[in-house]
Amino acid sequence: MDDAALLRHSAHIFLPDMGVEGVSRLMRARVLIVGLGGLGSVVALYLARSGVGELVLADPDTVALSNLPRQILYADRHVGQAKTDAARESLAALGAGRLRLCPERLLGARLADEVARVDLVCDASDNFTTRFAINEACVRAAIPLVSAAVIRMAGQLLVVHPQEPAAGCYRCLYPEGLEEAESCSERGVLGPVAGTLATLQAAEAIKVLAGIPTPLSRDLWVFDDATLESRRIRRRRDPDCPVCKTRP
Ligand SMILES: [Zn+2]
Repeated sequence: MDDAALLRHSAHIFLPDMGVEGVSRLMRARVLIVGLGGLGSVVALYLARSGVGELVLADPDTVALSNLPRQILYADRHVGQAKTDAARESLAALGAGRLRLCPERLLGARLADEVARVDLVCDASDNFTTRFAINEACVRAAIPLVSAAVIRMAGQLLVVHPQEPAAGCYRCLYPEGLEEAESCSERGVLGPVAGTLATLQAAEAIKVLAGIPTPLSRDLWVFDDATLESRRIRRRRDPDCPVCKTRP
């Protein structure tokens, strides 16, 4: 690590659990972020600024005017552009590391391929089909997954870590055949609540990459901004989970 990097990341280096070794791990790390909306925007900003070596950015959508209040990677001039292109422009201006773009809805073999190439996946998507697919790909490849979700004024966060098989996976928490939720503009979402969950999602990703233990590799964290109440709930593997059953 050169002097400029030491200075830039000194606040992280001074953390006893992080140090130079932790920051060095971040600088070598590759992270796939699926979804560049209200969650992914913030996750990408914090991981880029924290020195993560390579970000793989996946989203099939273009920037819409109604995205701007919470999708803080984008400006008015980006409306109509592919989110991946707009994100690259914003992140490159902030001195991000390597950026690779997937302007598509990653599923099936393409998703498995991208997951296998990274050290960690952040699920910042907005639908159950994608969430289940990402979870399955991560479990199969034994790649840590940091999953965040937000709806209206509430959110949840968990880490599916290959070293914590007893905690199960994302699929253990939800039954099959969940309805596709309406979009954020239809059901509503408070922008800063998405930012709150995303900031903690980035923090969890950094902890996992740097080797700092987190209770969320065993627990589910739920937060309600309406009451400002939050709690951690212990997760247990579902013995009938179709994904965990075949866990490596
Ligand atoms: Zn499972």
